[in-house]
Amino acid sequence: NPVVAIVGRPNVGKSTIFNRIAGQRISIVEDIPGVTRDRIYAKSEWMGQKFNMIDTGGIDIGDEPFVTQITEQAQIAIEEADVIVFLVSAKEGVTDADEKVARILYQTDKPVILAVNKVDNPELRAEIYDFYSLGFGDPVPVSGTHGIGTGDLLDLICKAFPKREAVTEDQTVKFSFIGRPNVGKSSLVNAILGENRVIVSNIEGTTRDAIDTKFVTEDDTEFTMIDTAGIRKKGKVYESTEKYSVLRALQAIDRSDVVCVVLNAEEGIREQDKHVAGYAHEAGRGIIIVVNKWDTLKKDNHTMKDFENLIRQEFQYLSYAPIIFVSAKTKQRLANLPALIKRVNANHERRIASAVLNDVVMDAIAHNPTPTDNGKRLRVYYATQVAVKPPTFVIFVNDPELMHFSYERFLENQIRAAFDFEGTPIHLIERRRK
Ligand code: GDP
Repeated sequence: NPVVAIVGRPNVGKSTIFNRIAGQRISIVEDIPGVTRDRIYAKSEWMGQKFNMIDTGGIDIGDEPFVTQITEQAQIAIEEADVIVFLVSAKEGVTDADEKVARILYQTDKPVILAVNKVDNPELRAEIYDFYSLGFGDPVPVSGTHGIGTGDLLDLICKAFPKREAVTEDQTVKFSFIGRPNVGKSSLVNAILGENRVIVSNIEGTTRDAIDTKFVTEDDTEFTMIDTAGIRKKGKVYESTEKYSVLRALQAIDRSDVVCVVLNAEEGIREQDKHVAGYAHEAGRGIIIVVNKWDTLKKDNHTMKDFENLIRQEFQYLSYAPIIFVSAKTKQRLANLPALIKRVNANHERRIASAVLNDVVMDAIAHNPTPTDNGKRLRVYYATQVAVKPPTFVIFVNDPELMHFSYERFLENQIRAAFDFEGTPIHLIERRRK
């Protein structure tokens, strides 16, 4: 999906516009314990066009001087986005800081849309003409607090998206390593690439695709390792800023089918480990928990079981994710990882024929009667799979309100027991049918 970045000096209202456009879709991550919502990155949709959005103002550059901060935020926007929304404010008019941002944005060929915020009433519309001096064409008036003009802005954003070339569907297994700094992501990347044949491609990609690496395993499976920059492209000034690396991780997750959540055996599980894992789960990706640095532990015959129990306790919502204990240093069990990724990928795109699915669901119901409420019983008529990645099932019932959380969980477990969905979330949706 294309990426939109909102840039501008502080207090022009970037977050307000961001939240306005992201709407309710941003809140989905909330009810998983240990997951904090990251307000700097959100998925959104306008007239059927899906896109991702970055609020560069939310990227914490640390205690750098003000000018350095806006410079870096604008540079991140230039690097990450397909379309840049340059936000200014009608209340204050053109400021020095706006001109500084403009000067950085002159350096990009990417489309820049100049939006003037805080045009809360028609009288303020006259103020927008001053902004022609910034050199980005027609200023678009909006009001983030009143929700005025955002539709027009979204139309312009969508019009500016690069035309999608007819790329042949990439059949490779797309995966990424995600985790906090120093868990050993780079070491895992290098170890895996060292053991497999890397495919060098000289097809010019976009800058963002250029850092992905394709390789082939011995059984001829092609993989694409989605890079979380900062793994292979070290040395950028802003790489050290934590929210920026989180942003890169979220983008990598969006482009992956399977996400390897890397933990450090030496340090155990930290709160920060749960954030990106929660996002990967919400995004419906296949997930593998990779415990790295397994060589550093003094082990007895229940060390692995104890560690596994700890993971199951701390990541309860990832009960479907397999766990693998590896060492990038000694290469222990590393050769098994590509095969595991391949299996989880297959489960993530598994399709079950309706006849077989209904046998399983009806059998489950025969053994465990559906719940009732006020004497009214849940009736299940039919189940069918409507999507893959992740597998999504619609269950037609007399009244969706009668479906209890625990009964849905029971049905999910029965489906999991009958088919191999290891490593992938599965979604059940109840629909009313009279
Ligand atoms: P990243 O920040 O997640 O990419 O982590 P790096 O790959 O840069 O690794 C951080 C540190 O951990 C480096 O000093 C590595 O040499 C070390 N390291 C990585 N994997 C292993 C491992 O399996 N065992 C041990 N003992 N050290 C490791």
